[in-house]
Amino acid sequence: MRLNYSGMESEMNTVTTSIIRQTRTVERLIQGVATSDGAGVSLTRVLTGKLQRRLDPYLMLDAFGSDDPDDYIAGFPDHPHRGFETITYMLAGRMRHRDSAGHEGLLGDGGVQWMTAGSGVIHSEIPEQEDGVMEGFQLWLNLPAKNKMAKPWYKDFASADIPEYVTAEGVTVRVIAGESNGVSGAVSREVTEPIYLDIHLPAGTSFSTAIPATHNAFIYTYRGTTTVAGTQVDVQRMGILSNTEGGDGITVSATEPTRLILVAGKPLNEPIVQYGPFVMNTQEEIHQALDDFRGGRLA
Ligand code: MN
Repeated sequence: MRLNYSGMESEMNTVTTSIIRQTRTVERLIQGVATSDGAGVSLTRVLTGKLQRRLDPYLMLDAFGSDDPDDYIAGFPDHPHRGFETITYMLAGRMRHRDSAGHEGLLGDGGVQWMTAGSGVIHSEIPEQEDGVMEGFQLWLNLPAKNKMAKPWYKDFASADIPEYVTAEGVTVRVIAGESNGVSGAVSREVTEPIYLDIHLPAGTSFSTAIPATHNAFIYTYRGTTTVAGTQVDVQRMGILSNTEGGDGITVSATEPTRLILVAGKPLNEPIVQYGPFVMNTQEEIHQALDDFRGGRLA
């Protein structure tokens, strides 16, 4: 049975999950690095520069989560991007986005903003709350060389617009990108074929989903503890998943209520040259981006 949701339905359908012959295993556990970005936002950088080659096509994953306004209130005032896509998934909180292409949107609880910077945008991301919890993720997905100078694109998805399904065991899966157990996500992309799932496991359940053998993949546990092939991925840990031959997907389980994201994508195998918010293929292209930005030609 193949289900395609245009949005979350009032009565959730139950999806039968596919059988995984051999789950990927956890190759390595990563603890994020506490840092600050924007105008002083405290966050944890989980996918750092030195993992960009291993987790190609992903360039960065930041996890943010705090109920202290001092950690987030300053937000991210106007800044440029060129050469990749940013995917912001808000678990809790409200963030206002404005960009040089005239787009504006308010990201709220459970919502996703997908932005393709392409040839360039200048944008701001500012919290629209004075207190309470702000929690979520920002993931950077690289663009293939042929698309790095494409026209910028942007879309906001309210929580209700993110396709969601529930398994017979009661596992809830939100499909932000790609496909999982026959359910198509909010966004699909050629070339990198990203898969981005938010998985909620009740205590004592397990869940399986296919991952193409071509893809690099990782999970990040943000509540509870995820177990993958006997390895525990504790809360606030990333597990890089093995690319061993024969692995056709992943099976995760949990003994306590657990939430995690699963991210996978097909590597580009192209040179990665990053200078802050610009990610291109060569130094010359980085110099061009800086020149364009300083000369007011980036966006
Ligand atoms: Mn940004």
